Amino acid sequence: MELHGTGVGRSVAVGPIIRMPEPLAEPASAKHDGDAAAEFATVQTALAAVAADLTERGARAGGEAKDVLDAASLMAQDPSLIDDIRGRIDAGTTGERAVFEAFGAFQEMLTSLGGYMAERATDLGDVSQRVIAHLRGVAAPGVPTSDTPFILVAPDLAPADTALLDLDKILALITRDGGPTSHTAILARSKSLPAIVGVTGALDLVDGTIVVADAASGIITVDPSDEVADAARARAAERAVVAPLTPGALADGTLVPLLANLGSPDEAEGAVALGAEGVGLFRTEFLFLDSKTAPTVAEQQEKYTQLLQHFAGKKVVVRALDAGADKPLAFLNSAHEENPALGLRGLRALRASEQLLRDQLTALVNAQNATEADLWVMAPMVADADEADYFVKLGKELGLRTVGVMAEVPSLAVLGDQVAEVSDFVSIGTNDLTQYTMAADRMLGSVASYQDPWHPAVLRLVKMLGDAGAAAGMPVGVCGEAAADPQLAVVLVGLGVTTLSMTPAALADVRAELATVTLEDARAAATRALGARTAAAARQAAVDGLVPASA
Ligand code: PEP
Ligand code: MG
Repeated sequence: MELHGTGVGRSVAVGPIIRMPEPLAEPASAKHDGDAAAEFATVQTALAAVAADLTERGARAGGEAKDVLDAASLMAQDPSLIDDIRGRIDAGTTGERAVFEAFGAFQEMLTSLGGYMAERATDLGDVSQRVIAHLRGVAAPGVPTSDTPFILVAPDLAPADTALLDLDKILALITRDGGPTSHTAILARSKSLPAIVGVTGALDLVDGTIVVADAASGIITVDPSDEVADAARARAAERAVVAPLTPGALADGTLVPLLANLGSPDEAEGAVALGAEGVGLFRTEFLFLDSKTAPTVAEQQEKYTQLLQHFAGKKVVVRALDAGADKPLAFLNSAHEENPALGLRGLRALRASEQLLRDQLTALVNAQNATEADLWVMAPMVADADEADYFVKLGKELGLRTVGVMAEVPSLAVLGDQVAEVSDFVSIGTNDLTQYTMAADRMLGSVASYQDPWHPAVLRLVKMLGDAGAAAGMPVGVCGEAAADPQLAVVLVGLGVTTLSMTPAALADVRAELATVTLEDARAAATRALGARTAAAARQAAVDGLVPASA
């Protein structure tokens, strides 16, 4: 028997399933003994305890999981939810029931909004269950444990569960609900676990049943024959051993260097272990998010040297401070702006404080000259060739060898040919390029469906840059999240992108996918995607013609 869903990642796992324990029983519709203040105080204590527990789990998990758990913690402290609970308790409802009803109402509202918001409803349900468990003095429902490895099956996984999964024991995730942007999917990607989401019938599986969960095809084979199970095990073993060690390349031998996105020199070692061939984006602003004053040349030089020392003979692309909007720096962005994403940010802010930019470039020159790495430096949020020319000239004047720009503002992509005349390279930041092309704030959940780099409008801009790069012999990389999506990575290469940079956890899947196509296949997939009308249609059109990695 086979079950079908949406695969996340390209790997495969074989093993027995264990289902997530049933949720807590619904609290009865009962009245409290009349002391509303005491009842509310108990609930407040439970909410605070759950919020603190989620924050602590976040701190333990770190990385992307921390953001997710911090968001869940905030849900437990949401003032309008707390007001709603209080109103219900004042009307006589028990604390447990009031929590259940208030969270339920909020959940329904999110579900009715659809898309990204509906997927957040699961997170809210999890917080509600934790609060009710706390009020009852029982353990919160959570991930089952086992002495032997297993595939976890659940209705949907809440961030608090996925963030703390014991990777040694969990082989794969299967959920009945959730789409490609659910937390199960996001976290599975960041932990390199195969996952299949949106699987009808998943919950009918009996604990202990052996399945093959193939994320590449989205197919779950229940009670597989020995032959099918052995083939899947062989594929999993092959990916685990060979994938991280070979350079990124297409099936026809075309090299596509696979680089890492880093935010601290401490992440360098881990990235190299996962097969990073260099660094495609070092986000220098991450080093100084908490600084009240501008970092000195010496302070910066130390950090950059530390980073470059890990990459002797390899390419490291460092981005000049990208301050503003979602990443404000106290020493660069002080004025209030109504629309900070459209404000004095990135290179614009650096130009307005040129000494700061000169200091950073000087620190980079010193680090370049003190190490063996091949340092490339780029500016964020560059609007046209004139701005590019300013940055490249300044960098070279100060002693940098290779200087380029990021393509995040659509105007720069449209003017790719002019940019190629002045810049050594371009690196496409698909996160911002998508945000500005689609006019959809990347931080805003209600417009998250627009934030999809598969949109043909975004792909056409990438093609303009790819074409301009090819005509002028200028390297064009991608360092936005798009590069971490294996199938989109193929399309990007087909559009003329020459290097891909991503979160290190995504390297293995992207490397495996690239190895299944020739340049001709990638170009054909890109052409199909460019002709589509929506992001979903572009993905479908591209993927339909690609041979599944499992074949
Ligand atoms: C981007 O915009 O795609 C990018 C890589 O930069 P950041 O995500 O840091 O804005
Ligand atoms: Mg950006």
